[in-house]
Amino acid sequence: MKIILLGAPGAGKGTQAEVISGHLGIPTISTGNCLREAVRTGSPLGIKAKEDMDRGRLVPDEVVIGVVKDRIAMDDCKKGYILDGFPRTVAQAQALDAMGVEIDRVIDLEVADETIKRRLSGRRVCEGCGASYHLDYKAPKREGICDLCGKALVIRKDDEPATVQDRLNVYHQQTEPVKAYYSAKGVLRQVEGQEKVEDTSALVLKALEA
Ligand code: AMP
Repeated sequence: MKIILLGAPGAGKGTQAEVISGHLGIPTISTGNCLREAVRTGSPLGIKAKEDMDRGRLVPDEVVIGVVKDRIAMDDCKKGYILDGFPRTVAQAQALDAMGVEIDRVIDLEVADETIKRRLSGRRVCEGCGASYHLDYKAPKREGICDLCGKALVIRKDDEPATVQDRLNVYHQQTEPVKAYYSAKGVLRQVEGQEKVEDTSALVLKALEA
């Protein structure tokens, strides 16, 4: 099954992607994680992407399209995959079509902007391995320390309040039109984000079958 998770930054796409991945046994492809990894290692891709990412802007379409094209050609994607954070523009959605990718379901996680702002202020990432935590929903066992590698947890530069509003504006202007694109194809399902992660997951799994 080929699935897209749409939704504003902080809507819980990454968490729901993990749940679906465990349920269906298919990998998650997060363009944000791929780009952050590239920035960490200082690769040419990372050098190209860093400034846009830090400012909460989208990285150019051709850059992310290249990342996704290479990743979905890998062996573990043969049975399907979950795209988390891609496509974020109609041009990216059209690029998937041009690659001959047939998407089975697009899950749109709906969360109000005010809730997003509250949630993003609690998000922390490991500066060592990139693992993601949340002070309210997925707290580390030891405060400020990664459960997986023991390195320090930090606030993502683009989660700082001044940048979050810019990211929400980018989402409303550039990513929301992607919903209409998939709605017209009949594969879009909208899910209201719930207060409890597991309640949202139950709705997401149901929407995959509907
Ligand atoms: P995320 O972790 O998905 O919120 O992504 C973090 C940042 O990576 C975004 O704010 C963008 O700068 C960049 N990014 C991730 N995915 C895309 C995409 N599909 N198109 C353009 N930029 C992206």
